[in-house]
Amino acid sequence: MIRINDILDKVAKYHPEDGLDIIDRAYIYSAKAHAGQVRLSGEPYLSHPLEVAGMLADIKLDTISVASALLHDVLEDTEATEEEIEKIFGPEVLHIVAGVTKLSKLNFSSAQVREAESIRKMLLAMSNDIRVILIKLADRLHNMRTLQFHKSEEKRRKIAQETLDIYAPIASRLGIYKVKNELENTAFKYLHPDEYNNLVNMVNRDKEQREKYIETVKTFIKKKLNENNLECEVLGRYKHFHSIHHKMISQNLAFEEIYDIIAFRIILDTISQCYEVLGLLHALWKPIDIKFKDYIGRPKPNMYQSLHTTVIGPYGERIEFQIRTREMDKVAKSGIAAHWSYKEGKHFDKKITNAYSWIKNIIENQVNVRDPNEFLENVRLDLFPDEVYIFTPNGDIKSLPKGATPIDFAYLIHTEVGNQCVGAKINGRMVPLKSVLKTGNTVEIITSKKHHPSKDWLNFVITVKARSRIRQWIKIQEKERSLSLGREMCDKAFRKYNLNFNSLLKKEEMKQAVNHFGFKNVEDLIASVGYGKITPLQIIRTVTRQTETLADEESSLLNKIIGRVKKKKPKPGVTVKGIDDVLLKFGKCCMPVPGEPITGYITRGFGVTIHRVNCVNALKMSPERQIEVEWNIEVEETYPVKILVHSFDRVGLMADMAANITKNGANINSVISNTRDDGSVESSFTIFVKNAEHLKKVLKELKKIKMVHDVIRIK
Ligand code: MN
Repeated sequence: MIRINDILDKVAKYHPEDGLDIIDRAYIYSAKAHAGQVRLSGEPYLSHPLEVAGMLADIKLDTISVASALLHDVLEDTEATEEEIEKIFGPEVLHIVAGVTKLSKLNFSSAQVREAESIRKMLLAMSNDIRVILIKLADRLHNMRTLQFHKSEEKRRKIAQETLDIYAPIASRLGIYKVKNELENTAFKYLHPDEYNNLVNMVNRDKEQREKYIETVKTFIKKKLNENNLECEVLGRYKHFHSIHHKMISQNLAFEEIYDIIAFRIILDTISQCYEVLGLLHALWKPIDIKFKDYIGRPKPNMYQSLHTTVIGPYGERIEFQIRTREMDKVAKSGIAAHWSYKEGKHFDKKITNAYSWIKNIIENQVNVRDPNEFLENVRLDLFPDEVYIFTPNGDIKSLPKGATPIDFAYLIHTEVGNQCVGAKINGRMVPLKSVLKTGNTVEIITSKKHHPSKDWLNFVITVKARSRIRQWIKIQEKERSLSLGREMCDKAFRKYNLNFNSLLKKEEMKQAVNHFGFKNVEDLIASVGYGKITPLQIIRTVTRQTETLADEESSLLNKIIGRVKKKKPKPGVTVKGIDDVLLKFGKCCMPVPGEPITGYITRGFGVTIHRVNCVNALKMSPERQIEVEWNIEVEETYPVKILVHSFDRVGLMADMAANITKNGANINSVISNTRDDGSVESSFTIFVKNAEHLKKVLKELKKIKMVHDVIRIK
C-alpha cells in the first residue's frame, strides 16, 4: 500500500517548491473522515484515495489535483460537507471533489450499450474541470485493480462492462493510453476469463522463442541506426491481451495467424530523426502501405503523435513500429494530463515548454488561446461540441443538439408525447416550454390527451423531428377543418338540388367525380371544397351529368349568393400559408393593399376572403375560420382603394385632382363628386394602387393641390 510520504516524494520531484502542505492537510482530513471504514479487500478505506492520489502524482498533476484525489470520496461516503471542504481547502478543491461526487452518483443501470457514446460525452461534459475526469479515471483504475474482492460475479461483470464501454474509451479519447490499456485488459479478464487465460497461455508457450526474437530485432535496429549516427531507444513489447483478442474476433483469426502481437517502439530526440528512421526501416524491409500512419504530421485530436508503420520482416513476418520523440512518448502515456501538468509552467524549463508549442498550434488554428486553463476548456468543448445530454425520469440518457427545448425532448421521446405536451419540469421544477436544456438536466414532460401542438412552438424548437411533427399536425388539422367545412357546404348545396349528399357518397357517381377532378379519394375532394378550390355545384354537375341545364342555374345561383361581389380570378398577389391554389378575393369592406397587415377568412364556399387585420369584419370573424395569409411581393398587381377628398370648389379642381392622381401612377376607376351649397366639395375616388407606400404618396400629393384641405382613405 502506497503511503502519503511516497506521494509527497513523487510530487516534490516535479513540483519542487513549497505548497505541498495542502496534500498533507487533505491526507489528514481524509484519514479522519474515512476512519473505521474498510475496503472489500479488508484494507483500511484510506488505501483507496491514497492509490488514486498516487496515480495522479505519477502523471505529474498539480497539488490541487492530488489533494482532491485524497478527498474524492469524503462527500459521498462520510460526514464531510461541502461547506467544510471549501472552508479548509478552498473553492477549487471543492469544485473538483463535488464534480467527482456528481459523476459517482450517476446511475447508468438502465442505460443501453448504444447509449454508451452519449454517456461518455456526458461524463466529459459534466466534468467542467478536466481534473475531475482524470480523478474519476484513476478511481476506476484502482477499483478495477481490486475488482477480485467483489463477491458477486454479476457485480464484477457489470463493473467490467461499464469500464469497457465508458471509461476505457474516455481514457483513449483523452490520449491516456497507459490507463486505457490497463482498463481494457482488466475488464477483458473479468468479462471473458477463458479467452483471457487462453491468450496468456499461448503467449507464454513460445515465450522464450519470442523473447529471443525481440532481442534479435532490437539489436539489429540499434546497430543499423547507430551506423547512421542515430541515438535511440528501442522497446519491444507484447500488445495487450484485449487488443489481440479484439483482432482475433474482428478479423476472424486464430492466435497463430496474428503475427504482429509484438510491437516495437523507437524513441528518438527530434522529429527529423523520426522521419529519418522511417526511411531507414522502409529501405530495409518492405512496408505495408495501408498500415502507414503519420500522426506527427497530423496529430490525433487528443494530441497523440507518432509514426506508425508495419513492415514485412526478415522471416516474412509482420513487424509493427511506432516511431516518436521522447516528448511524444510522454504525451502518449498521459495524454491531456501531460499538458495539464504544465499548468504551472514556470517551474519547467523553456525547452520542455517549447516542445509543447505544437499542442498550442493545434488549438490556435481554431481559437486564439494562450491561457492553459482556457486551452483545456477549449479542448473539452472541442471533444463534444454541439450536444447536450439529458436524463429521462427513468435515468435513460438522450442526446440533443445544443439549444434544444423541452418540446424537442418531448418529440424525441415520442411523437405523441410531443403532440400532447402541456408542460415540462427540469430537475423537478416547472419551466416554460421554450427553456433551453442543459447537460445533466432531468426532464419530465407533462402530457394531456386533450392538448395539441401550437404554431408558436415552431418559433423555438430546433430539432428537425419536432419541427416536422408540429407542421404535420397543423396540416392534418387544416385538412380536417376543410373536410368538415366542405361536408357542410356540400350537404347544403346538394339539398338545394334535392340530392342527398351522404347517400351519394358511396355511389359510383361520386367515384367518377373524384376521378374527374383528379383526387385520390372522396375525402380529398370534399376537403378541396372547404379550401375553396372547387364549388359544391361543380360536384353536383359532375355527379348528375346535367352539365348543360345546370350551367345557367349555377351562374344565377352564384350571382344570387355573391350578390354584388364581382367574381374574381384568384389573385396571385396573396398566398395562403400551407395551401396553394385557393380561390381568393378581397374584402370590399376594407380593400387591403400590399404592405398592410392582412388576414384570411375561410368563407362557406367561396374560398378565402382577404381582409385588413384591423377591419371591423375581420375582428368579428370566428377564430377557427381564420387563416394565415401573406402578400406575395413578387407579383406586381394593382389594387382598388377608395379615397375621399374634401375641398372648396374652384374652376378646374376636378381636372387638377384627376391629373395629379394619374401623374402619380394610379389609375382612376370611378369618381363621385358632390358640391354643397356652402361651396365645399366631397369627391370620392376609387383608384388602383400598387401598395400601401404608393397609396401614401398619392394621398400626400393630392393634399398639395390648391383648395384641397383633407384627403382620407375610406375604410
Ligand atoms: Mn473512489
